Amino acid sequence: MPIERKRPPKVDGQPVKADTVERDGDLAPQRQPGDVAEPSLRPRSLAEYIGQDRLRMNLVMMIAAARAREEPLDHVLFYGPPGLGKTTLSFIIAQEMGVKIKTTSGPAVERAGDLAAILTNLGPGDVLFIDEVHRLRSDVEEVLYSAMEDFALDIVVGKGPAARSIRLSLPRFTIVGATTRPAMLTAPLRDRFGAVHRLDFYDTAAMLQIVSRGAGVLGVHIAPEGAAAIASRARGTPRVALRLLRRVRDFAEVHGDGAIDAAVASDALQLLEIDALGLDELDRRVLLTLIDKFEGGPVGLDTIAASLAEDSGTIEDVVEPYLLQLGFLERTPRGRIATRRAYEHLGRTFTLRAEVAASRQSSLFDGQ
Ligand code: ADP
Repeated sequence: MPIERKRPPKVDGQPVKADTVERDGDLAPQRQPGDVAEPSLRPRSLAEYIGQDRLRMNLVMMIAAARAREEPLDHVLFYGPPGLGKTTLSFIIAQEMGVKIKTTSGPAVERAGDLAAILTNLGPGDVLFIDEVHRLRSDVEEVLYSAMEDFALDIVVGKGPAARSIRLSLPRFTIVGATTRPAMLTAPLRDRFGAVHRLDFYDTAAMLQIVSRGAGVLGVHIAPEGAAAIASRARGTPRVALRLLRRVRDFAEVHGDGAIDAAVASDALQLLEIDALGLDELDRRVLLTLIDKFEGGPVGLDTIAASLAEDSGTIEDVVEPYLLQLGFLERTPRGRIATRRAYEHLGRTFTLRAEVAASRQSSLFDGQ
């Protein structure tokens, strides 16, 4: 069933990701309007930023070099699933470079003229953060090419035979692009980013630090075991960890004195239906649909989405990356397959048919 696309809502004048408002529940990794309520949770400098060590080291070097040359930073592209820190890093870049930042998103820039207006208002060295950069319209993207490469805008003045093109030069600025779908970027746009960085899911140690830091900022008393319980079920995603922390804090305030220990965290997470691996209801529904309705697959993404009445973009961007990371799902040319591990985790018997499908797929891949 096609999902009706709404205009992206705005929070504090900033567009919220269009895809993100369609999923129920407030524990999904996508951005939601309530997120701006506690902006203090955002790390403000690279020193405060936890995890993504290689990426952080690269940025430290790039920023130090640009500052030493007294030049604006090269354009940077961040890609990876939602909630891992792409927006946070763009704000940190502006902060570390000592420049202003403006933010927009691909679907919010409706006309080439809108982009021209944004670009002409940038100061020297400023950062323009473009979220969902893969969703820029092609005519807007073309304006961006010359802006990123030559720091110039080609504007057509007049109409018909009298029309002529004038070139407006812009101050040198930095575009920071973010996308959950790097494969959907056009080659000319991707090539114009001087640095391209992937954000990975965070490891347990980093997640633990993020939860503890978040508890400190929110003024919540949390025992190490309580922090560990939240960290291990936050699917390697800071946004999920901070959301779980807030929900567990609510639970602790209602059912106790507000302190989070192992028992409080475990009861609250059970109530939220987050299982031991951090799978939530939608993750489980996707896997169970695959297993129970389609005998483990292979089945196409659109078919799964249709049978769940969910947006296929949400499943692809939000659900699948974590299931792939856990080894619960395989993406094959013929569709998605649930693995033996997924069956076992959900208490289903791995059937012969599923085994045959899985082995046929792997032999196809081996080129046999
Ligand atoms: P994205 O743009 O990738 O969707 P955001 O940058 O908006 O993700 O980050 C989501 C949330 O996670 C924010 O509240 C941010 O403060 C927090 N966050 C992200 N990365 C980190 C980190 N490394 N350390 C602490 N908090 C983080």
